[in-house]
Amino acid sequence: MSKNPVHVIGGGLAGSEAAWQIAEAGVPVVLHEMRPVRGTDAHKTDGLAELVCSNSFRSDDAETNAVGLLHAEMRLAGSLIMSAGDAHQVPAGGALAVDRDGFSEAVTRKIEAHPLITIEREEMPGLPPADWDEAIIATGPLTAPSLAQSIAQATGADALAFFDAIAPIVHFDTIDMNTCWFQSRYDKIGPGGTGKDYINCPMDKDQYLAFVQALVDGQKTEFKEWEGTPYFDGCLPIEVMAERGVETLRHGPMKPMGLTNVHNPSVKAYAVVQLRQDNALGTLYNMVGFQTKLKHAEQVRVFRTIPGLENADFARLGGLHRNTYINSPTLLDASLQLKSRPGLRFAGQITGCEGYVESAAIGLLAGRFAAAERLGHQAATPPLTTAFGALLNHITGGHIVSDDEPGKRSFQPMNVNFGLFPPVEAPKSDGKRLRGKDKIVAKRRAITTRALADCRQWLGLPAQAEAAE
Ligand SMILES: Cc1cc2nc3c(=O)[nH]c(=O)nc-3n(C[C@H](O)[C@H](O)[C@H](O)COP(=O)(O)OP(=O)(O)OC[C@H]3O[C@@H](n4cnc5c(N)ncnc54)[C@H](O)[C@@H]3O)c2cc1C
Repeated sequence: MSKNPVHVIGGGLAGSEAAWQIAEAGVPVVLHEMRPVRGTDAHKTDGLAELVCSNSFRSDDAETNAVGLLHAEMRLAGSLIMSAGDAHQVPAGGALAVDRDGFSEAVTRKIEAHPLITIEREEMPGLPPADWDEAIIATGPLTAPSLAQSIAQATGADALAFFDAIAPIVHFDTIDMNTCWFQSRYDKIGPGGTGKDYINCPMDKDQYLAFVQALVDGQKTEFKEWEGTPYFDGCLPIEVMAERGVETLRHGPMKPMGLTNVHNPSVKAYAVVQLRQDNALGTLYNMVGFQTKLKHAEQVRVFRTIPGLENADFARLGGLHRNTYINSPTLLDASLQLKSRPGLRFAGQITGCEGYVESAAIGLLAGRFAAAERLGHQAATPPLTTAFGALLNHITGGHIVSDDEPGKRSFQPMNVNFGLFPPVEAPKSDGKRLRGKDKIVAKRRAITTRALADCRQWLGLPAQAEAAE
């Protein structure tokens, strides 16, 4: 076994967790963090794992919430971020919220005190030198510019984004297919399609005019002053298109051409909202061209007026933010290694996950993979049925690349959610099928029970019943 350390670049949520996992496996680590030598536009301290905005790790319910499940899996895997979060919890109902200073100080102290971790306070100006044979880049959404430039040079300019322009994503089983229908425009089959690749939601003239007005009137979020106004690549927010004229959307993403409503073939829709499959499992669909700065509550209110989406459950809502992230599905292998440079991994938000907890979880996985490699064995990737596996699969494998919009980036950052898991049969109660909310809760319980059992097995832990004995 080589005694060379693993180098981790970036001491945020992901880098701190990765460094901890590597060191706990008995492998030395050098953690390179640029603060306080150089700051970012959002960080305010020189502490490791600083929370730049909210102090919440979101729901801690491991039975019926996907991020709560991820918390539970991280605790099973000895996560530093979760143990520091638990130790510095503040009251927040069902959520896990933390005292941000106490949390960051606890992570910093633990890392500083670990005998196998060295912290270097320095900016990495470019990719790690070639003799760092095991390294992890975890520099986050605000990666310093010269490193970002080096990443872009190494991966291709199109592979690195500086803003995410996110359209909402909907759980397929909440779309009303008695109103909507599957059809590609002009029934085009394309390289990977069937001619029925889109879900279409029809609008008549009155519905369309009311919808455009709701977009114009809806409350929007503002850009931070350092973000600029990054309207680019034909990625205009839907409400900005609506403001340009009442017909703009009907000639853009909502054009009705080449589509026939199978439920009402003799009536031509005045406008159509299209949704496209977003993950290989077919459980999630994104609203095509609907990137937006509308506030989240406004998105839910306005988008549920679309025929067929009245009961839509959104796996994520739209947004437009400063965010540096790579096109992971094409660049990384299943263990988060850059395919073109084995031994160099990416972790955290720069891989295209979203949120404190998800970033730390991907740091945890990257750390375990790097440590295993250093110790001379191949790390098994977590099963797809676990929250770890579902999130990793979103980043490295499960994403559908659109064939009909060549050159357009379709991979977008995402929080962990139940749409990323392989579906389960809805359990029955006394032999009867469950309906509505009961059915949703029962399905979620079945997914989380399966996930925790599979996660224990993956980690080599005893099954729950044995553990309790
Ligand atoms: C303005 C803003 C608000 C956000 N609000 C929330 C929120 O409320 N809730 C939520 O869950 N998520 C939020 N996020 C997302 C959040 O940043 C990430 O989820 C999380 O912090 C990402 O973890 P990370 O480890 O990937 O990156 P970070 O935690 O940002 O850590 C990256 C680290 O790398 C360092 N670094 C950068 N470049 C270099 C370099 N060249 N050399 C050395 N070190 C470098 C940085 O100083 C930083 O410490 C927000 C993001 C932003 C930008």
